[in-house]
Amino acid sequence: MSKPCLVRLAKGADLLAELARVAAEHEIQWGTVSVIGALVRAKTAFYHQDERRYEAHLWDEPLEILHGVGNISLRDGKPFVHLHLTLSRADGSAVGGHAEQGCEIFAAEAAITPQDGAPGVRVFDEPTGLFLWAPR
Ligand code: ZN
Repeated sequence: MSKPCLVRLAKGADLLAELARVAAEHEIQWGTVSVIGALVRAKTAFYHQDERRYEAHLWDEPLEILHGVGNISLRDGKPFVHLHLTLSRADGSAVGGHAEQGCEIFAAEAAITPQDGAPGVRVFDEPTGLFLWAPR
């Protein structure tokens, strides 16, 4: 088991892109992600299982990242960050979902923990309509 890579993410950057950039910089293609901090705005999504489609939610307001949890694996041969966010609004209420491009970082601290072994590879999964890890 490798040690976690603890990093401060860049203000103004897109959260998913910044996590992918840091993972690539550290040559991590397979690992877990944990992140806390704050966002200027966020975009999350909810997957409607019956309709097999994501519904986007835009949160155009400052938010705390109570917890971002996810993983890094390969999709189309490139490292892909899958992240879920629990966020708090100014009044303390919580929202969240599957993180999409469009989460602008105000400040964020991430722990990326590389995993040993061959990276998981995402492939289309017909029963769910999602890109899930191929069975090994
Ligand atoms: Zn998801």
